[in-house]
Amino acid sequence: MTPAMEPAADNAVIAARDLAVLWHPCTQMKDHETLPPVPIRRGTGVWLEDFEGRRYLDAISSWWVNLFGHANPRINAALRDQLDALEHVMLAGFTHLPALELAERLVRIAPPGLSRAFYADNGSSAVEVALKMSFHYWRNLGREKKTKFITLTNSYHGETLGALAVGDLPLYKNTYHPLLMTSLPVPSPDCFLREPGQSWAEHSMQRFDAMREALDRHHEEVCAVIVEPLVQCAGSMRMYDPVYLARLRTACDEYGVHLIADEIAVGFGRTGTMFACEQAGIGPDFLCLSKGLTGGYLPLSVVLTREEVYHAFYDDYPRMTAFLHSHSYTGNPLACRAALATLDIFEQDRVIERNTALAGALAAAGARFADHPHVAEVRQRGMILAIEMVKDRRTREPYPWQERRGRRVHRHALERGVLLRPLGDVIYFMPPYVITPEEIEYLAQVAWDGLVAATQD
Ligand SMILES: *Cc1c(COP(=O)(O)O)cnc(C)c1O
Repeated sequence: MTPAMEPAADNAVIAARDLAVLWHPCTQMKDHETLPPVPIRRGTGVWLEDFEGRRYLDAISSWWVNLFGHANPRINAALRDQLDALEHVMLAGFTHLPALELAERLVRIAPPGLSRAFYADNGSSAVEVALKMSFHYWRNLGREKKTKFITLTNSYHGETLGALAVGDLPLYKNTYHPLLMTSLPVPSPDCFLREPGQSWAEHSMQRFDAMREALDRHHEEVCAVIVEPLVQCAGSMRMYDPVYLARLRTACDEYGVHLIADEIAVGFGRTGTMFACEQAGIGPDFLCLSKGLTGGYLPLSVVLTREEVYHAFYDDYPRMTAFLHSHSYTGNPLACRAALATLDIFEQDRVIERNTALAGALAAAGARFADHPHVAEVRQRGMILAIEMVKDRRTREPYPWQERRGRRVHRHALERGVLLRPLGDVIYFMPPYVITPEEIEYLAQVAWDGLVAATQD
């Protein structure tokens, strides 16, 4: 046992019990020999508190799900009320008000044309639903040659096998390659890769040529193009210009290919608008939502689609055209109720408008990083700010990944009471919308100190 795991303080006792039985997500468990998991006893607003009373500012919204703070009184109240009425009922053959009211409200606020809601219970499952629905739509229309999906390099759509197959991050994908269907990757419009002097829009438009070429060559075998609108979050928070989405929408229509917008991470105000697609003035054929949907309370996801898609499945039973996909907890009433309370907060507090000022505070706090000798870029879209830490600012040469500099930042920040979890060497802020400008300033100061500490040798 390492000293950190000796059962002395409360945190250590709990961490030791944890390590005796749990296997954590996205973790090399051996890393916990030097940095044990942090046991959290309670949360309030942007703060998490451990068993020894130490507090951590949740600067990444607990993996991008939390929008209005931990233990939010309004969401708590809605859940207590729902708990006494109905905890769960299957959604096949039955229905309930939380599921149907949430569907009504999502359809009202979503980009135009999306009028049907299909529930699942996590982001990856929503992606699976969208892929299967698109494929099945074409099949119901007799277009059986359509079996493939076009995806962007550096994209992430979840980690179940279907979702992994349309993603492109080697870290998650390479090992499982033999198990995966083949997708057609097209170079990402990622603006970190633009030429000096080139604007985001110019770079994104230039990158669209490859997409048009892929559509031109493969459209007869392609069901859909799947993208993360505006920000490739798991792909190191790389960003691109809305013009790419506008062009993509037009081209998908021209070539008879669906457009799947995976807004699981960027939906619900993250990029400055309720949905990122709004900034391009487009509506996708399938919109995948999860993460912030329940304010970070409960697992729930939904795929919104068009009436035309719905009707391609609507027929007499023996024709066997129905969409037969189900999860046990599909449309769970508690989760839907948390989502309704979350939408109430968006409306009552005019959150999208208020976030403009908060995004300004983020920008101001992030400005200090721009000239650091080990920072290649500071980029922002709404309530996401990312700092690209590199070995050489001029050539943009990255640090060898084995050095794990981002992890040093994580560790440093934890000691100072901030939860940061860099993606490789990209430090990012993606805080709950209830963070204050003072807390943003504190967070930036801690991140700065962490960056300095992580790059001094
Ligand atoms: C997180 C994420 C997913 C997967 O959602 P899970 O609930 O973790 O399965 C899919 N797509 C994007 C863009 C994501 O950020």
